[in-house]
Amino acid sequence: MAIILDGKALAAKIKKKLADEIAAKKAEGVRPPCLAVMLVGDDPASAIYVRNKKKDCEEIGIRSLEFLFGADITDDFLVSEIEKLNSDDEVDGILVQLPLPKGLDEKRVIAAISPDKDVDAFVSSNVGQIMLGDPTFLPCTPAGVMEMLAEYNIDPTGKECVVVGRSNIVGKPMAMLLLAKNGTVTICHSRTKDLAEVTRRADILVAAVGKAKLITADMIKQGAVVVDVGMNRDENGKLCGDVDFYPVSEKASYISPVPGGVGVMTRAMLMENACTAWRSRT
Ligand code: NDP
Repeated sequence: MAIILDGKALAAKIKKKLADEIAAKKAEGVRPPCLAVMLVGDDPASAIYVRNKKKDCEEIGIRSLEFLFGADITDDFLVSEIEKLNSDDEVDGILVQLPLPKGLDEKRVIAAISPDKDVDAFVSSNVGQIMLGDPTFLPCTPAGVMEMLAEYNIDPTGKECVVVGRSNIVGKPMAMLLLAKNGTVTICHSRTKDLAEVTRRADILVAAVGKAKLITADMIKQGAVVVDVGMNRDENGKLCGDVDFYPVSEKASYISPVPGGVGVMTRAMLMENACTAWRSRT
């Protein structure tokens, strides 16, 4: 049976460290970090994510500003709201909850965020820095995965690392971070010819697809480290990942659960990024 990569415990440890740092700085008279979160429209999943971010901020002493807009706003309006926050010295981080409702230009909106307040690391200059191996902000989900690996002394150096999924927010930056840690990285996607043949080579497998139970036990190597980024609902409406957890955990050496794995780590990394922005401004 695999060892569980306990994201919940590690996230709690990271948040406690940040909370202590903020409390100490506050005692010296330094203002706390401030994170502005924008939510457009009424997507229920996005509303839950925003609520959780607010809860995390409250827990560790980050001031959170919430901006809720109807789905009928324009790109111009949203960009002008972001610009106000860009020039507000009291605001350290700006996050626009994605996806935006249809009709809004996500690329233009994200590009409006000042790179030094881009706590999601979505702005192109921050993406470029990740590519160059010199990031200011690490993308939250891949950074959460790397923290988990480090916590369990899993070193990607020289290992076959397979990332399933090539999105801009998870798959691609995940591959770059594994590469930066000297992994031999392969990226798979929906056009990969024989997915199982590739995943079976993986010493470290990261699944970031969005398909419940796509990764089955026959697709992994005995003793592989399996990290499940996926967040799906199973046939009973229960939260589950991309990995068929129980059969795979019989074969893997380490496995991250859903929930309690990468999701909570992603949230902790957002708090870390908000503090990174704050440290550089105070
Ligand atoms: P996207 O839909 O943007 O990307 C999914 C990727 O999976 C694409 O690259 C796609 O390939 C690939 N894919 C689809 N079907 C297959 C297949 N059958 N075999 C191989 N590859 C396939 O999703 P995201 O990257 O945004 O998210 C992925 C999952 O991670 C989702 O479940 C999401 O909810 C979850 N997530 C979890 C987070 C967390 O904090 N735990 C944070 C962010 C996301 P192609 O490019 O060819 O279409």
